[in-house]
Amino acid sequence: MIIVMKADVPPGSPELARVIALAESFPGVSTEVHHVEGATRSLTEVYLLGSTGVVPTGAFEEFDCVEKVVRITQKFRAIGRHEALEAVGFEYNGVRISQDTLTVFPGVCAVDSRENLEATFAALAAHGIHTARAGAYKPRTSPYDFQGKGAACLPFVFELAGKHGIRVVTMEVTHESQIDEIQRALDQSGHATGVMLQIGTRNAQNFELLKAVGQRTDLPVLYKRGMGITLEESLNACEYLATGGNRRIVFCLRGVKSNLGDPHRNLVDFAHVPVVKRLTRLPVCIDPSHSVGRRSGSPDGLLDIFHVTAQGVIAGANMVLVDFHPHPEQALCDGPQALLLEELGDFLEDVAIARRAYEQRLERARKAATKPRAA
Ligand code: PEP
Ligand code: MN
Repeated sequence: MIIVMKADVPPGSPELARVIALAESFPGVSTEVHHVEGATRSLTEVYLLGSTGVVPTGAFEEFDCVEKVVRITQKFRAIGRHEALEAVGFEYNGVRISQDTLTVFPGVCAVDSRENLEATFAALAAHGIHTARAGAYKPRTSPYDFQGKGAACLPFVFELAGKHGIRVVTMEVTHESQIDEIQRALDQSGHATGVMLQIGTRNAQNFELLKAVGQRTDLPVLYKRGMGITLEESLNACEYLATGGNRRIVFCLRGVKSNLGDPHRNLVDFAHVPVVKRLTRLPVCIDPSHSVGRRSGSPDGLLDIFHVTAQGVIAGANMVLVDFHPHPEQALCDGPQALLLEELGDFLEDVAIARRAYEQRLERARKAATKPRAA
């Protein structure tokens, strides 16, 4: 059971203490208090754990300080919507991300040189983009492939991000120790930018890494769905992040491994955008680059990456993570799927068209819902 407190009831208040005392007076019931700093409001929630089956909701609904009491109906205790909970999202370093917003994070798959990164960030700035991707630690299938520049590139990544007004950089971590390296480099840069930690698909069930990132409540996290596990298993993995205390989680769809997706690198799974929004309170990201994995286009003149991006955005995606590179033929990782910097303007325009269409669809659905139905 979750008790949602009204917005003006802060953690540590006497009203909250009375709610907790009543909850713990039931035999076998303990409580946990969670404070969620949302994009538009903050929420204090009391989780009742243990033998809650006999605890009446009415006893709590009578408190003036209680907004609602929700019985947990689904498996995802911390991230689930449980039919009645609202998705509040979060704000980090001046960027708001929630189930209602849309933010594009273009950038390099892997940082290879200062020059290429600077050209990329400069192009983003020229298009008014303040969010980017830039991988420093790369999990590669072959040990002989480029493994990423690691900690060595962090000082110039953060310096250039600051110089070009990039407020948040997403960056994968493959080991807990890298979080400290990132934190140190951020401190040394004078917090020139912010970092969203990425859990890659290959670490989707690396529970020790999930627990470590879950405890870093200072940095938001982009969780990439496991490419060979069920959606439910990936959502359970996010529970590790959330129960560690990190509530600033974005769930990223990036395609699933199957020959049925051929000739794409993965089978595109953006039909799950509304599903994840319904099941959880998490904003949903799409990664068209790692889904499609190539620059092929169709006779209509649009690249497949543009098409699948539009499919995710028109279905309500909240974030787009997409590979760009100034010289894809020279990229040390995933060059074949990188879009050209000259294509950034077209890409953003295409995203805006799909977002407008999504908003029109919402409007139509809202009107239809208020219209009386003929008997
Ligand atoms: C990435 O985004 O750089 C990446 C490696 O993605 P994924 O984990 O989805 O393959
Ligand atoms: Mn990649």
